[in-house]
Amino acid sequence: MADLLKSVRGMRDILPDETRVWQSTERLIFEILEEFGFEEIRIPIVEQFSLFQRSVGSFTDIVQKEMYVFKDKADRILALRPEATAGVVRAYLEHQLYMRKKITRLYYSGPMFRYDRPQKGRYRQFYQVGAEIFGGESPYFDAELIIILGNILQRLDIKKYIFEINSVGCDRCKVEYTGRLQQFLSPHKDGLCHDCKLRLQNNVLRVLDCKVASCRRILEDVPSIQKILCSDCKKHQEILYRTLEKIGIEFVENKNLVRGLDYYTMTVFELKINNEENAVAGGGRYDNLVADLGGPKTFAAGFAIGMDRLCNSVIPKLENKMSIFVFFLGQKALQDGITLVNQARNNEIRIIADYTERSLKNHLKIADKEGAEHVLILGEDELSQQVFLYKNMKDGSQRKIRFEHLSNFLKGLRNA
Ligand code: AMP
Repeated sequence: MADLLKSVRGMRDILPDETRVWQSTERLIFEILEEFGFEEIRIPIVEQFSLFQRSVGSFTDIVQKEMYVFKDKADRILALRPEATAGVVRAYLEHQLYMRKKITRLYYSGPMFRYDRPQKGRYRQFYQVGAEIFGGESPYFDAELIIILGNILQRLDIKKYIFEINSVGCDRCKVEYTGRLQQFLSPHKDGLCHDCKLRLQNNVLRVLDCKVASCRRILEDVPSIQKILCSDCKKHQEILYRTLEKIGIEFVENKNLVRGLDYYTMTVFELKINNEENAVAGGGRYDNLVADLGGPKTFAAGFAIGMDRLCNSVIPKLENKMSIFVFFLGQKALQDGITLVNQARNNEIRIIADYTERSLKNHLKIADKEGAEHVLILGEDELSQQVFLYKNMKDGSQRKIRFEHLSNFLKGLRNA
């Protein structure tokens, strides 16, 4: 036998046992987003590399180390999207969606790509469902995003969760904090890792993300941005906190939370569930991004849920659709049976046909092995009598169902 090819490192197959959980979880999330007035947008996986440089940030790990970048045949420099906010903003501008509504609520879902080190809950192709609100300045929009995530947790029956929230400040606060951070870190420069030495010059906020132990030690006494937030940023944060308290959503302030993307302003947050170290969702406000990408000044905020992590941690209630197995004995039964069964199909029952020629005994053996509870058989005799033979595999009972009654019989089986 030829050598079997394997999936690419960091990429994986999601098999039917898992996709069932994924589908029902996705459906639930889409339903909730629609309930809040979000509309779906579908954007390409491939975008211009410069889009991510200009939005996620040239000095972020995502852009510097983790992007799949390639040239197409016309020498365009393209990238597989590492996240979708940049693409959604690009589409929002390209199609002038800001002309249609004062507040635009969009959601998306699909694969993202980051050349990260694969480990538990970290893949090179992973899936996100995300939501973005454009045009809302009030902190209640930030609150709405967290409330949506709270509703999702509630409907998934996840009780152990915590939102970590911080503010990275407005433009003015960010500039001031950058100076403070440089002042604090400069004397420790020799102790910083190679990357952080560069970050110190280029984008010092990113030092706060560093996972290297020596950097983490230096960061233990880092001054908090909370101390220098302006009154507007403070007020914004206070309203958000009070709203979440009122609604009863569990959160803590994490003064070091900055997130790995440059575009955030003011509110940033992450959601952790079941005491897991890795965040399941992250988001925040990005009031400059639309203008930075060439659009009008537009307030904006959003979140992205990591579906791989969410689906690994939850056991959603599965929709239990009834299955009925059907097989045919002989060519004539097959020819007529396939159309008869097709007429009886409806969206409440799963009809799984096996068109392989086998003996009745073998068909039943396989149906039993595969856990079938309900079986329909069509052989030469049944065909001449214009009936299907129905067999209940659980109690062994069987009965004849006239062709014209098949549809109603299946409905009755579903409601029994
Ligand atoms: P981010 O786009 O970095 O804000 O991440 C939002 C969420 O996406 C995270 O909280 C994770 O759940 C998920 N995520 C990010 N990177 C990965 C990855 N490499 N593998 C799996 N999930 C990821």
